[in-house]
Amino acid sequence: MINIGAHLSISKGFTAAAKSAVSINSDTFQYFPRNPRGGAIKQLDLDDVKSFFEMVKNHNLTNILSHAPYTYNLSSNKEEVRRFARDAFREDLERLELLPVNLYNFHPGSHTGNGIDLGIKYIVDILNDIITDDITSTVLLETMSGKGSEIGSTFEEIARIIDGVRQKDKLGVCMDSCHIFSAGYDIVNDLDGVLEQFDRIIGLDRLKGIHLNDSMKPFNDNKDRHAGIGEGLIGLEPLINLITHPKLKRLPFYLETPFEVEGHEREIKMIKEIILERGISFE
Ligand code: FE
Ligand code: FE
Ligand code: ZN
Repeated sequence: MINIGAHLSISKGFTAAAKSAVSINSDTFQYFPRNPRGGAIKQLDLDDVKSFFEMVKNHNLTNILSHAPYTYNLSSNKEEVRRFARDAFREDLERLELLPVNLYNFHPGSHTGNGIDLGIKYIVDILNDIITDDITSTVLLETMSGKGSEIGSTFEEIARIIDGVRQKDKLGVCMDSCHIFSAGYDIVNDLDGVLEQFDRIIGLDRLKGIHLNDSMKPFNDNKDRHAGIGEGLIGLEPLINLITHPKLKRLPFYLETPFEVEGHEREIKMIKEIILERGISFE
Protein backbone atom coordinates (compact mmCIF):
# COMPACT_ATOMS: atom_id res chain seq x y z
CA MET A 1 0.00 0.00 0.00
CA ILE A 2 1.00 3.59 -0.46
CA ASN A 3 2.70 4.96 2.64
CA ILE A 4 2.18 8.68 2.95
CA GLY A 5 2.36 10.79 6.06
CA ALA A 6 1.79 14.27 7.39
CA HIS A 7 4.12 16.30 9.53
CA LEU A 8 2.55 16.37 12.99
CA SER A 9 3.30 17.88 16.37
CA ILE A 10 3.91 15.74 19.46
CA SER A 11 3.25 18.69 21.80
CA LYS A 12 0.16 16.85 23.11
CA GLY A 13 2.01 13.53 23.21
CA PHE A 14 2.79 10.69 20.84
CA THR A 15 -0.61 9.05 21.19
CA ALA A 16 -2.40 12.26 20.25
CA ALA A 17 -0.16 12.62 17.20
CA ALA A 18 -0.87 9.02 16.16
CA LYS A 19 -4.63 9.59 16.61
CA SER A 20 -4.38 12.69 14.50
CA ALA A 21 -2.54 10.70 11.80
CA VAL A 22 -5.21 8.01 11.75
CA SER A 23 -8.00 10.60 11.61
CA ILE A 24 -6.59 12.19 8.44
CA ASN A 25 -5.82 8.89 6.68
CA SER A 26 -2.09 9.39 7.13
CA ASP A 27 -0.27 6.04 6.99
CA THR A 28 2.70 7.33 8.89
CA PHE A 29 3.95 10.72 10.13
CA GLN A 30 7.00 12.83 10.79
CA TYR A 31 7.55 14.88 13.96
CA PHE A 32 10.13 17.04 15.67
CA PRO A 33 11.38 15.30 18.84
CA ARG A 34 11.75 18.75 20.42
CA ASN A 35 11.08 22.32 19.41
CA PRO A 36 12.38 22.72 15.81
CA ARG A 37 14.45 25.71 16.92
CA GLY A 38 16.14 23.58 19.59
CA GLY A 39 15.18 23.72 23.24
CA ALA A 40 15.14 21.04 25.87
CA ILE A 41 13.80 17.57 25.17
CA LYS A 42 10.70 16.63 27.12
CA GLN A 43 10.76 13.71 29.50
CA LEU A 44 8.82 10.78 28.01
CA ASP A 45 5.43 10.08 29.56
CA LEU A 46 5.47 6.30 29.92
CA ASP A 47 1.66 5.94 29.78
CA ASP A 48 1.67 7.93 26.56
CA VAL A 49 4.44 5.74 25.15
CA LYS A 50 2.51 2.60 26.08
CA SER A 51 -0.65 3.69 24.30
CA PHE A 52 1.45 4.97 21.39
CA PHE A 53 2.87 1.46 20.95
CA GLU A 54 -0.71 0.14 20.83
CA MET A 55 -1.84 2.75 18.31
CA VAL A 56 1.12 1.98 16.07
CA LYS A 57 0.34 -1.72 16.19
CA ASN A 58 -3.43 -1.51 15.83
CA HIS A 59 -3.36 0.98 12.97
CA ASN A 60 -0.25 -0.42 11.31
CA LEU A 61 1.57 2.92 11.38
CA THR A 62 4.97 2.21 9.85
CA ASN A 63 8.07 4.32 9.24
CA ILE A 64 7.25 7.08 11.74
CA LEU A 65 10.11 9.54 11.36
CA SER A 66 11.74 11.79 13.92
CA HIS A 67 13.24 14.92 12.33
CA ALA A 68 16.15 16.65 14.08
CA PRO A 69 15.64 20.35 14.89
CA TYR A 70 17.06 22.82 12.35
CA THR A 71 19.38 24.30 14.94
CA TYR A 72 21.71 21.30 14.90
CA ASN A 73 24.76 22.06 12.83
CA LEU A 74 27.24 19.19 12.99
CA SER A 75 29.69 20.99 10.71
CA SER A 76 29.71 24.50 12.15
CA ASN A 77 33.01 26.35 12.42
CA LYS A 78 32.12 27.01 16.07
CA GLU A 79 33.02 24.23 18.45
CA GLU A 80 30.19 24.97 20.90
CA VAL A 81 27.62 24.72 18.07
CA ARG A 82 28.99 21.32 17.03
CA ARG A 83 29.06 20.15 20.65
CA PHE A 84 25.44 21.19 21.20
CA ALA A 85 24.42 19.33 18.01
CA ARG A 86 26.33 16.22 19.04
CA ASP A 87 24.87 16.10 22.56
CA ALA A 88 21.29 16.83 21.48
CA PHE A 89 21.51 14.33 18.60
CA ARG A 90 22.75 11.65 20.98
CA GLU A 91 19.98 12.44 23.45
CA ASP A 92 17.38 12.18 20.64
CA LEU A 93 18.78 8.81 19.54
CA GLU A 94 18.79 7.48 23.10
CA ARG A 95 15.15 8.49 23.58
CA LEU A 96 14.24 6.96 20.24
CA GLU A 97 15.32 3.57 21.61
CA LEU A 98 12.27 3.71 23.92
CA LEU A 99 9.83 4.36 21.08
CA PRO A 100 8.30 1.93 18.58
CA VAL A 101 9.86 3.19 15.34
CA ASN A 102 13.50 4.16 15.13
CA LEU A 103 13.95 6.42 12.13
CA TYR A 104 15.80 9.70 12.57
CA ASN A 105 16.40 12.29 9.88
CA PHE A 106 18.82 15.22 10.02
CA HIS A 107 20.26 17.99 7.85
CA PRO A 108 23.95 17.18 7.39
CA GLY A 109 25.05 20.73 8.23
CA SER A 110 26.55 23.97 6.95
CA HIS A 111 30.31 24.45 6.95
CA THR A 112 29.94 28.19 7.74
CA GLY A 113 33.14 29.14 5.96
CA ASN A 114 35.41 26.20 6.78
CA GLY A 115 34.92 24.52 3.41
CA ILE A 116 33.27 21.25 2.39
CA ASP A 117 36.16 18.95 3.34
CA LEU A 118 36.47 20.04 6.95
CA GLY A 119 32.67 20.26 7.19
CA ILE A 120 32.31 16.65 6.08
CA LYS A 121 35.05 15.57 8.49
CA TYR A 122 33.18 17.19 11.40
CA ILE A 123 29.91 15.47 10.42
CA VAL A 124 31.62 12.08 10.07
CA ASP A 125 33.40 12.46 13.41
CA ILE A 126 30.17 13.23 15.25
CA LEU A 127 28.28 10.38 13.57
CA ASN A 128 31.07 7.97 14.50
CA ASP A 129 30.92 9.27 18.03
CA ILE A 130 27.18 8.90 18.55
CA ILE A 131 26.14 5.96 16.35
CA THR A 132 27.38 3.37 18.79
CA ASP A 133 26.68 -0.37 19.01
CA ASP A 134 23.68 0.13 21.30
CA ILE A 135 21.90 2.43 18.83
CA THR A 136 19.41 0.46 16.75
CA SER A 137 17.97 3.41 14.81
CA THR A 138 18.42 4.14 11.15
CA VAL A 139 19.83 7.63 10.80
CA LEU A 140 18.88 9.39 7.58
CA LEU A 141 20.90 12.11 5.90
CA GLU A 142 18.59 14.54 4.13
CA THR A 143 19.46 15.79 0.65
CA MET A 144 19.69 19.59 0.82
CA SER A 145 19.06 22.51 -1.53
CA GLY A 146 22.56 23.96 -1.13
CA LYS A 147 21.60 27.33 0.33
CA GLY A 148 24.48 29.21 1.94
CA SER A 149 27.25 26.80 2.91
CA GLU A 150 24.96 23.81 3.24
CA ILE A 151 26.54 20.37 2.81
CA GLY A 152 24.60 17.52 1.21
CA SER A 153 23.15 19.19 -1.88
CA THR A 154 24.97 16.75 -4.16
CA PHE A 155 24.79 12.97 -4.09
CA GLU A 156 28.61 12.94 -4.01
CA GLU A 157 28.70 14.85 -0.70
CA ILE A 158 26.13 12.51 0.84
CA ALA A 159 28.16 9.51 -0.37
CA ARG A 160 31.35 10.95 1.15
CA ILE A 161 29.68 11.28 4.55
CA ILE A 162 28.35 7.71 4.44
CA ASP A 163 31.76 6.51 3.33
CA GLY A 164 33.41 7.88 6.49
CA VAL A 165 30.98 6.37 8.97
CA ARG A 166 31.85 3.00 10.51
CA GLN A 167 28.32 1.79 11.27
CA LYS A 168 27.11 2.16 7.68
CA ASP A 169 24.29 -0.34 8.17
CA LYS A 170 22.62 2.26 10.42
CA LEU A 171 22.71 5.02 7.80
CA GLY A 172 20.24 5.87 5.09
CA VAL A 173 19.11 8.82 3.00
CA CYS A 174 15.91 10.84 2.92
CA MET A 175 15.44 12.55 -0.42
CA ASP A 176 13.57 15.85 -0.31
CA SER A 177 11.86 16.57 -3.64
CA CYS A 178 11.93 20.36 -3.14
CA HIS A 179 15.58 20.31 -2.12
CA ILE A 180 16.91 18.15 -4.98
CA PHE A 181 14.92 20.22 -7.49
CA SER A 182 16.46 23.43 -6.17
CA ALA A 183 19.87 21.72 -6.00
CA GLY A 184 19.68 21.11 -9.76
CA TYR A 185 18.48 17.51 -10.09
CA ASP A 186 15.85 17.56 -12.80
CA ILE A 187 13.09 15.39 -11.37
CA VAL A 188 10.59 17.15 -13.67
CA ASN A 189 12.07 16.11 -17.02
CA ASP A 190 14.44 13.30 -16.14
CA LEU A 191 13.43 11.43 -12.99
CA ASP A 192 14.91 8.18 -14.33
CA GLY A 193 18.25 9.89 -14.93
CA VAL A 194 18.27 11.38 -11.42
CA LEU A 195 17.52 7.99 -9.88
CA GLU A 196 20.25 6.35 -11.98
CA GLN A 197 22.69 8.94 -10.67
CA PHE A 198 21.51 8.37 -7.11
CA ASP A 199 21.94 4.64 -7.56
CA ARG A 200 25.42 4.95 -9.02
CA ILE A 201 26.74 7.42 -6.44
CA ILE A 202 24.90 6.49 -3.23
CA GLY A 203 22.96 3.31 -4.00
CA LEU A 204 19.17 3.16 -4.11
CA ASP A 205 19.17 0.63 -1.27
CA ARG A 206 20.21 3.53 1.02
CA LEU A 207 17.09 5.50 0.15
CA LYS A 208 14.67 5.05 3.07
CA GLY A 209 12.20 7.90 2.62
CA ILE A 210 11.08 10.88 0.60
CA HIS A 211 10.10 14.34 1.78
CA LEU A 212 7.26 15.20 -0.56
CA ASN A 213 7.19 18.91 -1.30
CA ASP A 214 6.66 21.21 -4.23
CA SER A 215 9.04 24.16 -4.60
CA MET A 216 8.28 27.89 -4.56
CA LYS A 217 11.72 28.60 -6.00
CA PRO A 218 12.99 27.76 -9.50
CA PHE A 219 15.05 24.78 -10.59
CA ASN A 220 18.72 24.92 -9.62
CA ASP A 221 18.22 28.08 -7.54
CA ASN A 222 19.66 26.57 -4.32
CA LYS A 223 16.75 28.02 -2.37
CA ASP A 224 14.73 26.05 0.15
CA ARG A 225 11.10 27.15 0.04
CA HIS A 226 8.46 24.43 0.14
CA ALA A 227 5.16 24.78 -1.70
CA GLY A 228 1.94 22.77 -1.51
CA ILE A 229 1.68 19.72 -3.79
CA GLY A 230 0.94 20.98 -7.31
CA GLU A 231 1.21 24.61 -6.20
CA GLY A 232 4.87 25.15 -6.98
CA LEU A 233 7.37 24.98 -9.82
CA ILE A 234 7.72 21.18 -9.75
CA GLY A 235 4.01 20.66 -10.32
CA LEU A 236 1.52 17.89 -9.63
CA GLU A 237 2.36 15.41 -12.41
CA PRO A 238 6.11 15.15 -11.67
CA LEU A 239 5.29 14.61 -7.99
CA ILE A 240 2.75 11.89 -8.83
CA ASN A 241 5.41 10.29 -11.06
CA LEU A 242 7.77 10.38 -8.11
CA ILE A 243 5.32 8.67 -5.75
CA THR A 244 4.38 6.02 -8.29
CA HIS A 245 7.84 5.36 -9.73
CA PRO A 246 8.52 1.60 -9.61
CA LYS A 247 11.83 2.22 -7.82
CA LEU A 248 10.29 4.51 -5.22
CA LYS A 249 6.78 3.40 -4.46
CA ARG A 250 7.89 0.99 -1.69
CA LEU A 251 9.11 4.05 0.28
CA PRO A 252 7.37 6.23 2.85
CA PHE A 253 6.53 9.78 1.71
CA TYR A 254 6.30 12.63 4.22
CA LEU A 255 4.56 15.90 3.48
CA GLU A 256 6.39 19.01 4.60
CA THR A 257 4.20 21.41 2.70
CA PRO A 258 3.50 24.75 4.38
CA PHE A 259 0.15 23.75 5.88
CA GLU A 260 -1.32 22.66 9.17
CA VAL A 261 -3.03 19.29 9.66
CA GLU A 262 -6.07 20.23 7.50
CA GLY A 263 -3.81 21.05 4.54
CA HIS A 264 -2.00 17.73 4.82
CA GLU A 265 -5.32 15.91 5.13
CA ARG A 266 -6.45 17.53 1.87
CA GLU A 267 -3.18 16.62 0.09
CA ILE A 268 -3.22 13.00 1.29
CA LYS A 269 -6.81 12.71 0.05
CA MET A 270 -5.96 14.25 -3.32
CA ILE A 271 -2.92 12.02 -3.87
CA LYS A 272 -4.75 8.85 -2.87
CA GLU A 273 -7.68 9.71 -5.14
CA ILE A 274 -5.39 10.26 -8.12
CA ILE A 275 -3.64 6.95 -7.51
CA LEU A 276 -6.97 5.14 -7.15
CA GLU A 277 -8.42 6.78 -10.27
CA ARG A 278 -5.43 5.73 -12.33
CA GLY A 279 -5.51 2.22 -10.94
CA ILE A 280 -1.85 2.28 -9.93
CA SER A 281 -1.01 -0.77 -7.84
CA PHE A 282 1.13 -0.39 -4.72
CA GLU A 283 1.22 -4.10 -3.88
FE1 FE B 1 14.36 18.60 6.67
FE1 FE C 1 12.76 17.99 4.06
ZN1 ZN D 1 13.34 22.23 3.16
